[in-house]
Amino acid sequence: MTARTFGKSSVESIKRERDRLAALDNLDLLNSPRDEGFDRIVRLIQQVFTVEIGLVSLIDGHRQWYQSCSGLSADEVPVEDTFCRYVLDDEQPMIVQDATKDPRFVMHPAVTGPDHVRFYAGVPLKTKERHTIGTVCAIDRTPRSFSRRDLGILQELAGAAMDRIELMQTASTDSLTEALTRRAFKREAEQLIATALRHKHDLACLVLDVDHFKKVNDTCGHAAGDEVLKAVAATCRAKLRTGDLFGRLGGEEFAIILPHVGGEDAMIAAEKLRSEIAARSISGEFGTLNVTASFGASALSIVGRDIETLLAQADAAMYQAKGAGRNRCMSFASMQGADGMNARRRVLKAGNIVFNDRRSTIDCTVKSLGVDGAGIVVSNTAGIPPEFTLAIKADGFETNCSVISRDRQNLEVAFR
Ligand code: GH3
Ligand code: MG
Ligand code: MG
Repeated sequence: MTARTFGKSSVESIKRERDRLAALDNLDLLNSPRDEGFDRIVRLIQQVFTVEIGLVSLIDGHRQWYQSCSGLSADEVPVEDTFCRYVLDDEQPMIVQDATKDPRFVMHPAVTGPDHVRFYAGVPLKTKERHTIGTVCAIDRTPRSFSRRDLGILQELAGAAMDRIELMQTASTDSLTEALTRRAFKREAEQLIATALRHKHDLACLVLDVDHFKKVNDTCGHAAGDEVLKAVAATCRAKLRTGDLFGRLGGEEFAIILPHVGGEDAMIAAEKLRSEIAARSISGEFGTLNVTASFGASALSIVGRDIETLLAQADAAMYQAKGAGRNRCMSFASMQGADGMNARRRVLKAGNIVFNDRRSTIDCTVKSLGVDGAGIVVSNTAGIPPEFTLAIKADGFETNCSVISRDRQNLEVAFR
């Protein structure tokens, strides 16, 4: 395990990475639902260049996340393992006609392993402010050439992907589930919070995430997964009051704002939704399925006075519910170690987890940060010890941490 080294390992590159992540954060696209617009661009890449694999990806502090991909099985990969990191570091297109003849890639697992990658063409996905937030790629399993004209077309397709991203900023409902988009949800939640604070009303926030949803996709197919998401959303909406806010935060994760509801009643509401979801059978061409969801709840408090904090708190409680066996509800207020999380803010920062007497380093993305702790995402938490050092280079920050809770990819830590 080694740290990712930037092309120019300097103050300048750290600053560039910080600004790039701020731009990516601002778009709020990571883990967002699949989108037909991006899927169409990927299909065009496959058809125009007659390649097996097309890709539109976003890159955060530790991983390349596939906004849309056809021809590869994963949803995301650690960025240090990718061809695309060269495009990111150089902010330039890269063409590899035959990876077996390129010393950078000849021993690469994607080349030597079952993916059998031979040809790669990738261009940066750049915002108007010229921040590289991801890549658009054509990849194939046989060597091939790529003309200047081909490169021009791929760049046009990257432009179309960026246009799509900008258009998405204006959408307020998610087309699959009809829930509010994450951006619209947060905007409306801020208004409800402002009203609640002004009139001294209660307000609570729930986050729910479908359990083992990947298994549904893997065993019954994506169409079945989509039906499950629709059913879960419909079940929630049927139980909510008209003044409640219901949004889709990403893949199989939803959030709810309950105005005029305090912490204890929020747990009753969460429990009602949980049991409704668990009791409902979802039928379709795929047969009949049952799913469960894990819930986290948070409520307005002296420090929890904005949507980012409420979501971070409900999220942390939800991860504890996952860790405690799933299909259950947890409240932030009753969470062990919650004290250290009171002032959490959602952020998107590149970090490093350092352990083993500084001999081991793992790239991570810091997604929430407070004075006493942080929420961290990694590609895989296996092998990360209960205590380590967290470094955020862009902030010149380094501190020792203890893990409060973990699942496959998420860590909640308290600073020591
Ligand atoms: P856990 O119980 O820990 O939450 O496990 P999980 O399998 O639910 O969680 P994980 O995050 O590993 O998998 C979520 C999957 O959701 C991965 C992704 O492919 C899928 N997904 C995301 N958006 C959509 C969508 O719009 N439709 C479908 N069918 N699947 C989606
Ligand atoms: Mg899930
Ligand atoms: Mg999830």
